[in-house]
Amino acid sequence: MEITRREVEGLGALRSDEWPIISLYLRVDKEHITDDHYSIRLKNLLKELERAREQIGLNRAQSQAVDEDVERIRAFFRDHGDEFGQGVALFASSRAGLWRVYHVPREVGNEADLDFRPVIGRLVRVVELFEPICTCVISRDRARIFRGHLVNFQEVAVRLDEEVPGQHGQGGWSQARFARHIEDHVRQHFQRVGQVLFQLFEQDPFRFLVVAGPDEVVADFVDGLHPYLRERYVGSFNCLMEATAKEIREETKRIVTAWQEQERQRYVDLVLEEALSQDMAVVGLDRVVEVVQMQNVNSLVVDDQLSAPGRYCLRCGALQPIGSEASECVFCGGLTRMRENIVPEVYAEAYRQNANLVFLSERDLRARLEPFGGIGAILRYRIGAPATS
Ligand SMILES: [Zn+2]
Repeated sequence: MEITRREVEGLGALRSDEWPIISLYLRVDKEHITDDHYSIRLKNLLKELERAREQIGLNRAQSQAVDEDVERIRAFFRDHGDEFGQGVALFASSRAGLWRVYHVPREVGNEADLDFRPVIGRLVRVVELFEPICTCVISRDRARIFRGHLVNFQEVAVRLDEEVPGQHGQGGWSQARFARHIEDHVRQHFQRVGQVLFQLFEQDPFRFLVVAGPDEVVADFVDGLHPYLRERYVGSFNCLMEATAKEIREETKRIVTAWQEQERQRYVDLVLEEALSQDMAVVGLDRVVEVVQMQNVNSLVVDDQLSAPGRYCLRCGALQPIGSEASECVFCGGLTRMRENIVPEVYAEAYRQNANLVFLSERDLRARLEPFGGIGAILRYRIGAPATS
């Protein structure tokens, strides 16, 4: 099945008390790989599980359950590996009744891990690649609608053509009356398309709306849209109704990625401004871990190359204070697990709390956050404010 934001949220909420869960990410886009076929990578990844198995300390029955799942995974790739185009994400704990396989973008990469909950850092990292997008190509008498995300984008089977009266052969009508008549048709057409878009939105909400067509048509059309749709409108481009799906996809991508880049810029400004005034943001991994544990993160802004060691609890999931070497959780006394890089656990945890995640890949943006530890969080509520009587 195709990965969606909703699926990632569902995975984020899963937990198995008794049986360990295998999380496996595998790139399978063979056109980019000649000498290391994915079956070799799969074999190596499954070996990585051995290390995880030691770290989380399994009893005999749990260990046997993992062995069975590894066999099931091998068999699955033997029989179905060819059915995947870019990447696979697989979550398995047969004894806990869990077996899920997703098509994912190639950017997800390779990893195998074992825990009592799905390891979702890699999915969370690329979630913006599958933020749902809708593009509506509009003219005065026609419309085409496309849906998808940055990885997979297609025209949906909704194509609207309206009978707008022609410019000729309307004998007996005054010019003014005729022009008004056409305008009524155009308005009705815009309304109808707007209704279809809103229905699509209600069935399966999209994050971004892009509108394409002649500038003056786009402006009129967007003006008349439902406020929910206008909120999601991120830009337009000029195109003909006959444009190919590829052209529309490329232009849509351009608009959405430009918008996302501006957003990142805005978030860096905001987090630094608020942190410097010590008001509604904190910076640095240790402070960010604290506010994540307080469930007090509205938005997390992070250098996408940041890496630092840390620990989290295998029982309650809590991130441990940065620098702590304790093998017991400070919150519940459960066993903690050391990570060479705790950052993915930090953003996965923030994601579970519905925080907005902002990953910085641009060199200039990363450089601005670097003096502050490469990570910052915009808070939901103020902390350390003077107590009022
Ligand atoms: Zn704990």
